Amino acid sequence: MDKTQIDEAIAAVLSGGATIARIFLKRGIAKGSLLVFTERLPARPCKGCDGVGKRERYGSPGTYDRCTSCNGLPLISQPDWSDILRRCLTFRGAARWRTSNPSLTTKTVKGCHRAGYVWRMVRFYAGTDVCLPMMAGIMSRNDPWLDEMDAFAHGVAAVLYPASRGIAGVARWGGLLSTGGLPSEALETMPMTASPNGPVITESETDED
Ligand SMILES: [Zn+2]
Repeated sequence: MDKTQIDEAIAAVLSGGATIARIFLKRGIAKGSLLVFTERLPARPCKGCDGVGKRERYGSPGTYDRCTSCNGLPLISQPDWSDILRRCLTFRGAARWRTSNPSLTTKTVKGCHRAGYVWRMVRFYAGTDVCLPMMAGIMSRNDPWLDEMDAFAHGVAAVLYPASRGIAGVARWGGLLSTGGLPSEALETMPMTASPNGPVITESETDED
């Protein structure tokens, strides 16, 4: 794909993903602001330091260290959705979701932890890897836009893996991550990984790039 085709592919996934994410937000399946995909919203304070940029050292009252979540810059702007998709998609032939985490291969670039979070949650919601994504939250650096990134991941999963309806991982772990009952007919059209007795990973872990 040339640059124009890649831009068009990203725009299509962004448009479809945001539309479905808004449905998840409206239904309360995901949390966060509906406006995050259409408007420029005010920056939010880092959750690691409550917007102060530093944290009192444990056991040393009055001694402060720079917050490691925001690196001392505690007002965090909303995610750049196109940038996240550009890092997570691969463009050989068609736009496909990468099989390896993009934040592990681009260490120095600002924002890569966001791509890593969305990448992992799309894999979960798509049913390609429904191991509970504990590390995704831990690696997310107390990002105050995590709810909206989560909603976006539901939407992108539904666009790229329609059979999952963006909820395959949730369906599998329904007892743990309760989002309300899903109709049984929805489960029948989902990948096998959505079944409580199905396989946990459907795609090979080797990256084709
Ligand atoms: Zn902070």
